[in-house]
Amino acid sequence: MPRAINRCITTSEIVRWWDSEIVMHIEIVCVGSELLIGFVNTNGAFVSEKLATIGLKVAREISVGDDSAELISVLEESLRRSDVVIVTGGLGPTFDDITRNVVSKVTGKKLVLNKEQLKILKDFFVNRNYKMSKTNEVQAYILDGAEIIPNNLGTAPGQILEVANKFIVLLPGPPRELKPMTENTVIPFLKERFEKGLLKVKVLHTTGMAESTIDEKIRKIIDTERELEGSEITFSILAKHTGVDLKILVSGDDEMIIDEAIQKLKKEFYDVLGDVIYGEDNQTLESVVGDILMKKRKTLAVAESCTGGLIAHRITNVAGSSLYFKQGVVSYSEMSKKKILDVKEETLNKFGAVSEQVALEMAEGVKANINADYGISTTGIAGPKSSSTGKPIGLAFISLVSNNKKIVKQFNFTGSRAEIKDKIATAALDILRKNII
Ligand code: ATP
Repeated sequence: MPRAINRCITTSEIVRWWDSEIVMHIEIVCVGSELLIGFVNTNGAFVSEKLATIGLKVAREISVGDDSAELISVLEESLRRSDVVIVTGGLGPTFDDITRNVVSKVTGKKLVLNKEQLKILKDFFVNRNYKMSKTNEVQAYILDGAEIIPNNLGTAPGQILEVANKFIVLLPGPPRELKPMTENTVIPFLKERFEKGLLKVKVLHTTGMAESTIDEKIRKIIDTERELEGSEITFSILAKHTGVDLKILVSGDDEMIIDEAIQKLKKEFYDVLGDVIYGEDNQTLESVVGDILMKKRKTLAVAESCTGGLIAHRITNVAGSSLYFKQGVVSYSEMSKKKILDVKEETLNKFGAVSEQVALEMAEGVKANINADYGISTTGIAGPKSSSTGKPIGLAFISLVSNNKKIVKQFNFTGSRAEIKDKIATAALDILRKNII
């Protein structure tokens, strides 16, 4: 029977809605005392998001300190009600890394020295010219019967243990180690065992349009009833301070039907939102800008006042950016604006540093002095105090100058200092994206 259900959900609601027979119960337990004193837990969010891509929903996420008694109690409870428990952190070699021992105690599985893993560990240190400490050896102890999750970036291997038809997955705490291990081993492992249908997700990234306006524009697409053999469509909308992400999720058994549906829906979104959509899936605004600059063989120089180097930072986060990025100047003082960017004293005196005219002269100056095809500039008031000139917090001017174009735009952003800086940098990159010819 054809099923076509369109509903708008939040990211956390991505569930295996097309198969109600198997309801998996998954919990994530994040270990680390720092998580209980304000350190932001990004591992839980990352693992949940990856599980969602194969249609697996996390029921609970628990943070627990480096305390054996607490962890034993949490794990006993989690294992009782779950099919899969994913534990992050506490796999290091030091006294406060308790996860291995606690899991051994809770599951009754012995920790056994794995010679192959010990060799990998020794090689890890030799290759980096470090002396391996004796304490590191504990990281070669694997729970009896567990599958090893290779860790190419650190010393703690992950483990997947099956006990009484349940799986317990151990991952190290450092995100740069946990992420590839989750993507390369944990997700394929769980996918093979638990995923029945297929779920594909298409993400469309937008910037420069308010969530409510986007919602209004896409409402018709979301409300349209669709006949889709054996498949379901779900949408989600996620607003961040720099833009709105739209997700199209199509599930079912037939990959061709799913792909066609995604293409069709994607086109409908582009038809109503146009170039407000700057990229898809893993693309970032700076990677899109970089691709355009590279394709057109154009170069860029940036003069930043209020964004303090954020634009240069984002641009240079993209591998290969040296091909198009010539220079970034953080020009914070009036003296620097005059000396490095040739902003006229008269302009500064007459209009003030946060003005349309100064933004324009900054972009002109950086373009000319660095001899780039495009010069962009930012000047604004990031807060939290308003300027002595009475100009309001969030006021910003962004200018873009090329051989045949001079643009200056005014913005009035809201938010914290960091958010305002982010918004200004995003708006500048977006102006650039839309104006490279
Ligand atoms: P290591 O071998 O580095 O000790 P580990 O598995 O013992 O690895 P932890 O000691 O628990 O990991 O954490 C190491 C670091 O990883 C922490 O200081 C923190 O920076 C980061 N980290 C740990 N857990 C999380 C988390 N849930 N979210 C984000 N970062 C985390």
